Amino acid sequence: MKKHAVIIGSGFGGLGSACLLAKAGYRVTVLEKNEQPGGRASVFSERGYTFDMGPSWYLMPDIFEHFFQLMGEKVEDHLVLKKLEPSYRIFYKDEDRTIDIFSDLEKDIPTFEMLEPGSGARLREYLKRAAYQYDVAKKRFLFKNYDSILDFLNWETAIEGSRLSVFSNMDSYVRKFFKTPAVQKIMQYTLVFLGSSPYNTPALYNIMSHIDFSMGVFYPQGGIYELVKALVRIAEKHGAVVRTHADVARILVEKGTAIGVELVGGERIEADIVISNADMAFTDLQLLPEESRVKDERYWKSRTLSPSAFIMYLGIDGRVPELTHHNLIFSKDWKKNFSEIFDNPQWPDDPSLYICAPSITDPNVAPDGKENLFVLVPIAPNLSDADEQLELYGEKILQMLETTLRIPNLRERIEYKKFFSVKDFKQRYNSFGGSALGFAHTLTQTAIFRPNNVNPNVRNLYYAGAGTNPGIGMPICLISAELAYKRIVGDKSSGPLTSLQR
Ligand SMILES: Cc1cc2nc3c(=O)[nH]c(=O)nc-3n(C[C@H](O)[C@H](O)[C@H](O)COP(=O)(O)OP(=O)(O)OC[C@H]3O[C@@H](n4cnc5c(N)ncnc54)[C@H](O)[C@@H]3O)c2cc1C
Repeated sequence: MKKHAVIIGSGFGGLGSACLLAKAGYRVTVLEKNEQPGGRASVFSERGYTFDMGPSWYLMPDIFEHFFQLMGEKVEDHLVLKKLEPSYRIFYKDEDRTIDIFSDLEKDIPTFEMLEPGSGARLREYLKRAAYQYDVAKKRFLFKNYDSILDFLNWETAIEGSRLSVFSNMDSYVRKFFKTPAVQKIMQYTLVFLGSSPYNTPALYNIMSHIDFSMGVFYPQGGIYELVKALVRIAEKHGAVVRTHADVARILVEKGTAIGVELVGGERIEADIVISNADMAFTDLQLLPEESRVKDERYWKSRTLSPSAFIMYLGIDGRVPELTHHNLIFSKDWKKNFSEIFDNPQWPDDPSLYICAPSITDPNVAPDGKENLFVLVPIAPNLSDADEQLELYGEKILQMLETTLRIPNLRERIEYKKFFSVKDFKQRYNSFGGSALGFAHTLTQTAIFRPNNVNPNVRNLYYAGAGTNPGIGMPICLISAELAYKRIVGDKSSGPLTSLQR
């Protein structure tokens, strides 16, 4: 008899776990409350536009390749990946300039020199260190399960850590290399991928610049959802069953052991192993009986949450040649903007924002001659977002786009508009506090300090996804699946797996 693994949620952590366990010989059932698998990487189509609802940057191709290889697959058999050129465009508010970053030093160093004379050589040095640290992270940290503080703060780590000054914050680390705010912002913006601020994130995460500048930014033709479809296809090929409209009401615990789940509506599903890919705090507070919880509500409320997001999905009549695929607008007062998100929650007055225009690369996602725009403004979690507030803020952001991007008639050309914000993250994904990404990557929420992927009070209950290690992002959540798998089979290695046990 095969052991039955029940997985709550079909985000990257859930689907990744399903793939690995099914290939390793488990009977696997994935239970997803929504109408489609993919979690935050959901998709919807309306009036000829197809909108990826969440992630849009395909980063860390090496991690996807590793995962597919572990499954006996090749990325190119599932996805048509295009390297974006430029990787992204930056608009500085009230300044008559835009710059393009190509993830190609031959092109990027002259841009840095133009922004800050002398910074080209420092960029090279910065990236050399980041590349080294990325390599160390992959070999020793990212693929490692943590059981005690000693796993993290062993001598080797401490020596390595202080030599690389990875425990100072990103803001001071970046300032050691670059003096101009315009350049500092380029080196720090990548922290938004981690739902973090440069003022509270350890410099450890400067590896993001290696990912950004040296590895490049990719796009799977058809959209990010193609990646979700590939994972579902692979999981199903190995026998996993992915059920949608399957809302788990509680995890069944008997004598300290997880024995299955109960769905809303009363259906009970027995399991030898339960993995929750749903939000960690939600799982703890809503799906478990009190005595089985890892922590109490006070603890979860005291965590630093990543930002939520104010998102507009826009269908635009006509093309928008001012944009490239990924576009960033940086706020003038960087510190104030981060403070409005993390310290002093309020609707940002002069926000940084992100605009994705996938139709520039992909004719499949918009009708002919039209543009598909995804506009995202990071905002504080738990912010109140009544519909009237969304309309007002949307108008403010659209005006800002017209001015900064110099598209005077953008608003007149909108033929489709949909908002997604704090309450939607809560409702659609059961996200604690309506955070878009989960727990921020502060030092005290990294590695051993991040919620662990095994429940200490309930045997056979594990976790995968952004809430546990290593953390936020599609490729990172696939690593979380590998970590859950390692836990289950008792593999204590610290690097990527080369094969699965049957
Ligand atoms: C707007 C946005 C932009 C992003 N951009 C990028 C990007 O460009 N690149 C990148 O790599 N990452 C990006 N990310 C981050 C990335 O999308 C996430 O870190 C990752 O997808 C999270 O995966 P997960 O495994 O944690 O599961 P989630 O995606 O959180 O999925 C969890 C699933 O569990 C389900 N669930 C919850 N409760 C229950 C229940 N009771 N019963 C059944 N099912 C339940 C939910 O419906 C959901 O489908 C972005 C995220 C957002 C929101």
